Amino acid sequence: MDTETFRRHAHALVDWMADYMAGVEEYPVRASVAPGSIAAQLPEAPPEQGEPFEAIFKDFTDIVLPGMTHWQHPSFFAYFPANASPPSVLAEMLTSTLAAQCMLWQTSPAATEMEGRMMEWLARALDLPQDFRGSIQASASEATLSALLMARERATGDAANKEGLSSTGQRLAVYCSEDAHSSVEKGARVAGFGADMVRKIPVDENRAVRLDALEAAIRRDVAAGITPACVVACIGGTGTGGMDDVWAVSQIARSHGAFVHVDAAWAGSALILPEWRWMADGLELADSFVFNPHKWLLTNFDCSAHYVRDPEALMRTLSLVPEYLRTHGANGVTDYSNWSVPLGRRFRALKLWFVLRSYGLSGLQTLLRRHIELAKHAHDTLAAEPGFEITSPLKLALFTFRHRPEGLPEEELDAHNERLLTALNDTGKAYFTQTRLGGRYVIRFQVGQTNTETRHVNAALDLIRETARGFR
Ligand SMILES: *Cc1c(COP(=O)(O)O)cnc(C)c1O
Repeated sequence: MDTETFRRHAHALVDWMADYMAGVEEYPVRASVAPGSIAAQLPEAPPEQGEPFEAIFKDFTDIVLPGMTHWQHPSFFAYFPANASPPSVLAEMLTSTLAAQCMLWQTSPAATEMEGRMMEWLARALDLPQDFRGSIQASASEATLSALLMARERATGDAANKEGLSSTGQRLAVYCSEDAHSSVEKGARVAGFGADMVRKIPVDENRAVRLDALEAAIRRDVAAGITPACVVACIGGTGTGGMDDVWAVSQIARSHGAFVHVDAAWAGSALILPEWRWMADGLELADSFVFNPHKWLLTNFDCSAHYVRDPEALMRTLSLVPEYLRTHGANGVTDYSNWSVPLGRRFRALKLWFVLRSYGLSGLQTLLRRHIELAKHAHDTLAAEPGFEITSPLKLALFTFRHRPEGLPEEELDAHNERLLTALNDTGKAYFTQTRLGGRYVIRFQVGQTNTETRHVNAALDLIRETARGFR
């Protein structure tokens, strides 16, 4: 494709992008295609001859779009948000065009120095501890893996990296709440701890990890000759938004020499709101902290902010510099590939810069406060609605509920709510997902899409009421 052809198509695409943003509400939120139906429309072999862009784009609209779930639909109340915003999309266009590999300072000084500055901006915006140093990772899962690897090296005196964990003869355990994200167990598998060495500690009625149970589990392990290597605390659990007491968890972990990682993938963005800073009380005792601007801070995936108190320890764990990556005359510079598992890095700081400058902190604060208020409105409405039951309290902009029509026995409620959820999502007018609470099937209601307004939440509430009414 020559430059002039690119120019022509790019202009047309930008028009399509703006129309999509303006009209995304016209699409069903969740794709409802049958499994395999998209693949069936894609030829089994690549074309021998190049095709005109018009033909490719036509297939994008005809084949791809109907198979998309529209995460930027303002009636997206499922999972957690994966925010995008116009300035972030514009930055992504530039990042793709520059197409730089930003693994070393020398391979893109601006990307490296921008990343450092943006991590400082975010640390100030969230009021993080002064000595935290950050880098951008692709996902919270990657940041949590890095933290687990740091914990492993601390517990083995850097021997696991060198000799392999098995030859150290040590058994290491990881502790997290039973509500912790699956990335903790996955990271523990990958880092060689083993899934069986992840202690899933029960939670209290507020979905926070039970401190007595945590202390007891650690003591049991110590008595059995197992080293407590890492405690993962959670601010804003995935199922119901549960929040661990970071200060108390860190105290317990530290008294046993364990590394502390704090997973605030979703809720961390709300630390830009001074009235929510209490969530992170005790963070100054933690070794590592992650949150995802790509969830709730208007920045396109991927952009996960990972902070550590001791970057030297992170680099001892992850840096490996063969001759072909040695740079010369670059003393005193940061090579962020030494801070993460992958070598290659996109220029991800650019979109943060665009977002933070376009909205300013006060613009972002206004938006998050609106989401939190709208979630409270939804919560209060359903709480007052006969036949509905709030099953977990509002945490920031997330709560869970279930429909509990009079006379329907408890043992039928799971199947009933599962059918209700399917019926809601099949309308295409809103999208919710479920979780299990003490074995019970409940529906999550999460508000966080960039453009969600009161009318979207009210329409969703009407939809829930009407669908439930027509149901029984
Ligand atoms: C979403 C989420 C994750 C995983 O985030 P990725 O960036 O997709 O890896 C981890 N922990 C919590 C609490 C989350 O909500």
